Amino acid sequence: MNRVRTRFAPSPTGFMHIGNLRTALYCYLFAKQNNGDFILRIEDTDVERTVDGAIDIIYKTLNESKIYADEGPLQGGNFGPYVQTERKDIYMKYALELVEKGAAYYCFCDKERLDSLATENGIKRYDKHCLHLSKEEINERLARGDKWVIRQNMPTEGVSEFDDLVFGHVSIPNNELEDQILIKSDGLPTYNFANVIDDHLMQISHVMRGNEYLSSTPKYNLLYDAFGWEHPQYVHLTPIMKDATRKLSKRHGDANFNDFTEKGYLPEAIINYISLLGWSPKGEEEKFSMEELIEKFSISGLSHSSSIFDEAKMKWLNGEYIKELPFEKFMELATPFFEKSKIKGKYSYEKFGKLIQTRIEILSEIPEKVDFLAEFTPAEGEMYFNKKFKIDSEVAKKVLEKSITVLENVSDWNEENLHAAIVKTAEEMELKSGVVYTVLRIGLTGVMVTPGGSPEMADILGKEESLNRLKLSLEKLK
Ligand code: GLU
Repeated sequence: MNRVRTRFAPSPTGFMHIGNLRTALYCYLFAKQNNGDFILRIEDTDVERTVDGAIDIIYKTLNESKIYADEGPLQGGNFGPYVQTERKDIYMKYALELVEKGAAYYCFCDKERLDSLATENGIKRYDKHCLHLSKEEINERLARGDKWVIRQNMPTEGVSEFDDLVFGHVSIPNNELEDQILIKSDGLPTYNFANVIDDHLMQISHVMRGNEYLSSTPKYNLLYDAFGWEHPQYVHLTPIMKDATRKLSKRHGDANFNDFTEKGYLPEAIINYISLLGWSPKGEEEKFSMEELIEKFSISGLSHSSSIFDEAKMKWLNGEYIKELPFEKFMELATPFFEKSKIKGKYSYEKFGKLIQTRIEILSEIPEKVDFLAEFTPAEGEMYFNKKFKIDSEVAKKVLEKSITVLENVSDWNEENLHAAIVKTAEEMELKSGVVYTVLRIGLTGVMVTPGGSPEMADILGKEESLNRLKLSLEKLK
């Protein structure tokens, strides 16, 4: 087999959509698994759709995702330039070669004429009008500066066939293929032409892309044939859907990488999750590192039907990744979210971090998990009511009274000493320690459910604030 070379060929039209990122991932995994090359090519020939800054977003997204190109605009390589608008002359040279061979032709038809073409099933098809112009007439019109495009001259008979590694045998009657434009009036190529020239010149062995290109692939193969070039292998990928009927779509602003990282998804988790959208590993395991994905990925595991994007599942997986982060790394990522919370500048992020690292699925849940501690309203008597520990507001009042005196004497205010003080209080009152833990937790926070127990809450609040709150809570019960 030739050296495996795959390419990711995004158009710089905005944020990186999840479907595109998945294509990049599969291209990368397949290349790396085969010790081949992964190439990044920027397809920017649709100048009107190009968005400023979008190329940088592509670089940044791939980098954060740890999908590293061997060749590309930043990396360089022997097959550059890797930005299509910088390859304009190359396309023109090959287009003229096709014109020479009769496989393509100049077309001068204006909009009016194109608009007047007969419609077939709602689609206007070019009628090969300019194919029949004489050489003299073409030269005269070119010299005159008339507007032109170059079109592919499709055969009108026969069938085009090829084998796709996912979709199997594909066969399309040639008379269904339109004489598509190869070079536009601005002198730049269409995708339909540039992809063929570049995939050949860049020695791409496997073309992996969305299946919206499946039905156009026979046209591309006819171009390869006209040049006498070998076809690449094709791997068309099924779409990722928002639900049963709607595709996730960049144009509708759905699901892009950047939105997810801003919400506090880790790139590793996003990559892991999207690897499974359209590919099924053997076995039950679903959590994979990039190295494992490189080892396990297989074209035979690619799905023939579309997959549905399930954010809840990605969230769950992200939670698994968060749990496994080394604490320092977790804090580095979590700090910006603590900064957005109400405890900002009040309480230790680290102490809270220890309590919530295993309790959140995405980092943006941090404020809602910690905000409760920043505002304090003493609890009403009913909140203390607890069947298991036989607590009612009378018991709560006694526990608060006693605890306040015990805690006032704790000089070294830390979790360990606070635990000891609580146990001591319980012993002296002949109560289960759970009773004291529970009453203090509510007394300190005014809420029932907290991410840590009372010693942790008291430790975060500090001695002065803790005692103040306990006194207010006691007042409330009187
Ligand atoms: N520029 C095309 C796109 O973004 C690339 C398709 C391909 O991979 O060939 O859809």
